[in-house]
Amino acid sequence: MEESASSEESTPDKQAAVCPVGDCQAVVKHTHLLRHMISEHLDPRAGALPFQLRLREVTSGQRTLLMLTYRQLVVDHDQCLAVLNWSSDSPFDLMEPQLDLPPCHQGLTYHLPVLVMVCRTTWKALLRQDVEAVARNSRDLASEWGTVYLLWLVSPYTRRAIYANLAVLNSQLQGIVRRNRRRVRNFASRMPISQFINGLDPFFVSLNEDQLDELCDGGGDHSSVFLEVTIVGEGQ
Ligand SMILES: [Zn+2]
Repeated sequence: MEESASSEESTPDKQAAVCPVGDCQAVVKHTHLLRHMISEHLDPRAGALPFQLRLREVTSGQRTLLMLTYRQLVVDHDQCLAVLNWSSDSPFDLMEPQLDLPPCHQGLTYHLPVLVMVCRTTWKALLRQDVEAVARNSRDLASEWGTVYLLWLVSPYTRRAIYANLAVLNSQLQGIVRRNRRRVRNFASRMPISQFINGLDPFFVSLNEDQLDELCDGGGDHSSVFLEVTIVGEGQ
């Protein structure tokens, strides 16, 4: 058991990686992502901050609603809204356990921690790394330079793909902007920006600020939507 674990660690998918939360430079092992989130990012002052990280245990098909006061998000900062600890039907051959948890959270050892991530950014920032030269020469793109929200899910490495449904609802829990099935991404993998721009990316949901404002009858600094996350499980 230990021998196979150590040989597996040599593959890039399973190597320790930088924490997915913006501005956190900690390098985290796949087996210690939940411990890191609890010790570094779970604020004991629950509810005191606008973007309080939530920790929750979920089963397949169980939905979680997360309120998002979207205009108050810090621009270009990858924010973790919640850690959904998903109980798989077959955790032992799917993933490594989460280790060194505090006593009150040890019941989550064989759950997969799925981080619900959001980032408020601009198309300009997204495109910068790939096609800056092209963009500079294209005036047509100027109108596309608006604010965009990206939603995605990350977890430690799993041997098989895990899927989830993401939807955005207004404060009356109506008016779905998107209901997309997306894959949970390995937090150690890098974002394939060119695939994302081509619409081939299986991981990200993007929403323009206009779409969210429309959902909220015009928008405003305190406008909020609900993000609905439902982990479906393995396979399509
Ligand atoms: Zn961190």
